[in-house]
Amino acid sequence: MWQITGHEAAIELLDNSLKNDRLSHAYLFVGPAQVGKMTLAINLAQALNCEKDDKPCGACSSCQRIMNSQHADVQVIDLAAGKTEITIDQIKEAGKTKISTDQIKDLEHYASLKPFEGRSRVFIIANSELMSSEAANRLLKTLEEPPPFVHIILLSTSEKAILSTIRSRCQMLELRPIAISAIEKALIEHHGAKTEEAHILARLSSGCMGWAVQASDNADSTPGGPLLLETLVSIAKADRLEKFSYSASMASQFSKNRAEVQKLLSLWISWWRDLLLIKGNCREMITNIDHQETLFREEVYYDIIDIRNFIISLIQAGMLLKNNANPRLVLDVLILGMPKRKGC
Ligand SMILES: [Zn+2]
Repeated sequence: MWQITGHEAAIELLDNSLKNDRLSHAYLFVGPAQVGKMTLAINLAQALNCEKDDKPCGACSSCQRIMNSQHADVQVIDLAAGKTEITIDQIKEAGKTKISTDQIKDLEHYASLKPFEGRSRVFIIANSELMSSEAANRLLKTLEEPPPFVHIILLSTSEKAILSTIRSRCQMLELRPIAISAIEKALIEHHGAKTEEAHILARLSSGCMGWAVQASDNADSTPGGPLLLETLVSIAKADRLEKFSYSASMASQFSKNRAEVQKLLSLWISWWRDLLLIKGNCREMITNIDHQETLFREEVYYDIIDIRNFIISLIQAGMLLKNNANPRLVLDVLILGMPKRKGC
């Protein structure tokens, strides 16, 4: 009854440990953003407190209360309250960059109290790589000798970003991107997506169910509006002067909304990656399938090496912008270095 798409190996391990009463008191779930770490952690909290034999049932009062963030014994610790994973950019925009010692002191306090309504107290630390070092050191104490009814689940996008002393006290579970077909099926069966929408979103999701669900709930969050890709194709055909003018407008947009420009760069990466896949005879793996006709048409105009180099340039430009390099300079170099379209 685990209500999560994919991650079968992790579920089997947790389910067996639960049935044999061998669950660890501390887990570290590592995987890309929105891959399902929080969903699995909530499911585990439900399994630990479920009132039925087949745990987690998802339907009993405990399971429901945990799902709705109303259970007194299950707490999510994050930069923002709630059980939704937020991106690092959203955190930075909110102006808070660390999980504080005070938050871990609170955890310590509640961990010392017997469960109030269930059997286990569960603490889920989202974005745990963002704990201040003082907070992380404080957490060590509880991890060293957790009360028998306490379970701590740390979520992180990177194993290496977690202090080795903390890692060594946790059982690590790696959550990898899940199969596109599984995402497509789940979107249709559990999230009311239409067949074609599910097909496209699953391809765009890079194997991250949370992203696909969010995009399905909010069509506006889907990157790759047709307009953006049409602009991209027209820029590739443009002369030097037009390219300069486009990079100037992008730099100006960057000063107003950094996230939009980063989103655009991600979209471009997906576009050029698709061209690379088509060149490599892997058409079935392309992401922008709603633009496949344009992709098939454009592919013949570019050399494979040029495409590959430009993808590297796009990644580097994104990193330079994140590190506060001069946006006009970065974008001028990027756009003027766009692969030459044969025949232009
Ligand atoms: Zn239940």
